[in-house]
Amino acid sequence: MPAKSPAPPGFPAEIPSPATLEELHAAMLECTRCDLYQSRTQVVPGAGNPEADLILVGEAPGAYEDKLGVPFVGASGKLLDAMLTAAGIDRDEVFIANVVRSRPPGNRAPKPRELRACAGWLAEQIRIIAPRLVVTLGRFALQHFIPAGKITQLQGTAHEVQYGPRTLTLLPLLHPSAILRNPDLRGGYEQQFVELGRMMGNRD
Ligand code: SF4
Repeated sequence: MPAKSPAPPGFPAEIPSPATLEELHAAMLECTRCDLYQSRTQVVPGAGNPEADLILVGEAPGAYEDKLGVPFVGASGKLLDAMLTAAGIDRDEVFIANVVRSRPPGNRAPKPRELRACAGWLAEQIRIIAPRLVVTLGRFALQHFIPAGKITQLQGTAHEVQYGPRTLTLLPLLHPSAILRNPDLRGGYEQQFVELGRMMGNRD
C-alpha cells in the first residue's frame, strides 16, 4: 500500500502547468489540496493515451480504484468497458479520468470544496491532451463543464462549451453506476455509446 503523501496540507497551492502528463501526474500524486488526502490509499490521476482524441470523465475513485491507482476498474469500470466495446473503441486509445482524484470515504458524493480543489488537475490534463471530444459520465463531471447543467436534460446530445481558451465538444452521458442501479436503462445507454463510436469514426 503506498505511503500517505508527505506533503503539507494544501499542497500544491497552485496547480502546475507542465509540458507532459507524466510531470503533471507526478505532481498530482503528492496532492493534499483537500481533506480527501487523509483517507485515500493513493491518488488516481487517470489513465490512457496521452494523445487521445477522446477523454471520458467520471466522478471519483471507488474502493478498487483507490487500491489499484487506476480509474474505472470496479463494477462501473466493467460496464464502461462493455460500452466502449459496443462503440468499437479500445480503452487504450482513450484517456479516462475523474473530477475528484482521491476516494471519498464510503464512496460518498464529492463535496463542493473538494470539486473546486481538484478541478485544475482536469483542466491541465485537457490542455495537454487537447482531445476532440470529452464525454462526461454523470452529474458531477457534467457540472465541471456546465455548472448549472442537468444530466437528465443534456445527456445523449453533444454540446459546444467554452473551457478556458478552448471550445470543447462535450457529450454528457449517465455514469455507469446509474445503469447498474437501473438495468432497464442499459439498452439505451449502449445505443448512445454506439453513436459515440460513430462520432469518433470507430463505427459505421
Ligand atoms: S481529491 Fe484532488 S484536490 Fe483533493 S487531495 Fe485528491 S488530488 Fe488533491
